[in-house]
Amino acid sequence: MVIIVITLERRGALTVDIQLPESEAIDGQKPNDHCAVAGYLGKSSAYSSLITILRTLQHRGQESAGIAIFNNGIMNVRKGMGLVNEVFANLSPDQIMHLDGNVGIGHTRYSTAGTKTMENAGPFIVTNSAGYFAVSHNGEITNADKLREELMKQGLTFSTTSDTEVLLMELARNISLYGISNGTKLAMEKMKGAYAVALLFNGRLFALRDPLGIRPLILGKTPDGYIVASESCALDVMGAEKIRDVRPGELVELTPNGIFHILGVTSKTTAHCMFEYVYFARPDSVIDNVEVFQTRIRLGKKLAEEFPVDADVVVPVPDSGRAQALGYSIASGIPYSEGLIKNRFSDRTFIMPTQEKRAAAVRIKLNVIASEIKDKRVVLVDDSIVRGNTMKFIVSLLKKAGAKEVHVRIGSPPIIAPCYFGVDMKTRDQFVATGRTEDDIRDLVGADSLRYVSIDGLVESTSMSKNELCLGCLTSEYPAPIPGVAYPEQKELESFTS
Ligand code: SF4
Repeated sequence: MVIIVITLERRGALTVDIQLPESEAIDGQKPNDHCAVAGYLGKSSAYSSLITILRTLQHRGQESAGIAIFNNGIMNVRKGMGLVNEVFANLSPDQIMHLDGNVGIGHTRYSTAGTKTMENAGPFIVTNSAGYFAVSHNGEITNADKLREELMKQGLTFSTTSDTEVLLMELARNISLYGISNGTKLAMEKMKGAYAVALLFNGRLFALRDPLGIRPLILGKTPDGYIVASESCALDVMGAEKIRDVRPGELVELTPNGIFHILGVTSKTTAHCMFEYVYFARPDSVIDNVEVFQTRIRLGKKLAEEFPVDADVVVPVPDSGRAQALGYSIASGIPYSEGLIKNRFSDRTFIMPTQEKRAAAVRIKLNVIASEIKDKRVVLVDDSIVRGNTMKFIVSLLKKAGAKEVHVRIGSPPIIAPCYFGVDMKTRDQFVATGRTEDDIRDLVGADSLRYVSIDGLVESTSMSKNELCLGCLTSEYPAPIPGVAYPEQKELESFTS
C-alpha cells in the first residue's frame, strides 16, 4: 500500500512522506463508479466524521482513500491506495494529531487498472495567491484535455493526467481572480461533463454539482455540524438529518450557521445517471428524492409485467439482483428463494489476467442451494449484464444443480455504449449486448429465455421522465458533448444564462 501524507504550509515547506506497504486493485464483474465524496464542518473531529462517511460509501470506490483537513492555517492531507480501513489503519497519535481540525473533505476512488496510481488518488490540493484549495470529485470532465491545454498556455503546471486536477485548477484560478461566486460560475461555464464536488478553500467548505446533476450529492445536519456526501445512507449512519440534495448547477457553502446557496446555474434539463438507481448506489439511499430500493423493486415488478414466464422459483444473483428479484416475485406471485449463496469474504476480486482465472474467482464467490433449484423452473434475476461471463457461469451452475429451466430476467435495458461521466465502461467491445439480440445473448449464456426490462419500463420505475435521466450507455445519446466522439445525437443542453 502506498500512503502519502502531505502537509501544506503557505509560504512554508511542502513535505511529502511516502510509505510503501502492499496494494492491490479490484476487478469487479460489474462496472464501477469512480468515487465517493465527503465533507464535514462542525464542532467535532472532522477526521472521525469523514472516516465514518467514507466507510459507509466504500462501495463507490475501493482503490484509494484520502482526507484533507484545514486547521490553524495549514492544509493536511493523508491519502493512500486501498480501502478506507487500510489507508487509515494503525495511525500513530502523532499522525492522528496531524489530522486534527473541524473542517475537511474526504474521497474514495475506483479506477481501471491502467490508471491505478497514487497520483490520481483524492483529494487533490493546490495553493495559489488566494490560499489553499482541496477538492474531492465524483464524475468526469469530458473536455479536460482542452482545458488543461488552455491552462498550461496560461502558465499553470500539472502533475497528473487526472481530470480532477483540471477541475481543481479551473476552480482555484477563477476563484482567486474573481471570488467564490463569479469564479465558480466562470469555471462551470468552461467545464463539461459530470462533477459532484466537495471544495475546501482556506477552511471554508463548499459543495458543487454540475448543471445536469449527473452524479448525486446530498447535504445533512449532524447534532454538531453539517455534512455533504455522495449518498444519503452516509447521513443515516452519521445520525444526520437530511437537508436536501445539492441542486443541479448549484454551489452551496456549509457554515457553522447553516447551509447557504451561493450560486445556481440552470440547465434546460437534468441527466441523473440511471445506473445509480439500477446498481451503483446503496439500496438504502435516496437520490434526488427517489428511493433506490423502491426503484429496484419497481424494476422487478415491471420486468414481470413485460416478460412473464411460467416458473417455480425466482432466484436473485446475490447481491446485485436481490431487490429486482423481490419485485419480480411480488408481481408474478412466483415464490422468491435465495438459491445462490455468495461468499461474504470474497468481496474483493483481484485483477485476473485471464478468463480462466476470472471464472475461478466467480466460483469462489458463488454456490447453489441444490434443494431450492433441483427439478425447478428458475427465474434468475440480476440488475445488469456487462460482459456476460458471470451470467453464463451462473446459468451453468444452476443447470448442474438440476434446474429444469433457467429464465434470465435483467432489471435494466442492455448496455451498449461507453460511459463518459465517471464509470469505467469505456469501450463498446466489452458489452455482450453490443451488436447482439436478446436471443443471441440467451444462447451465449445458455439460458432457456433471456429478457431485459425496456427503456420505458426503466424510466417509469425511477418515477422521473426521460428528460431528467442520463441513458447514454443504453442509447448512445449523451446529455453533454463528448470531444472526439461523433454521435449525431449529442445535444448541448446546458445553459448559463442565469
Ligand atoms: S452513460 Fe450510463 S453509466 Fe454513464 S452517467 Fe449515463 S447512465 Fe450513468
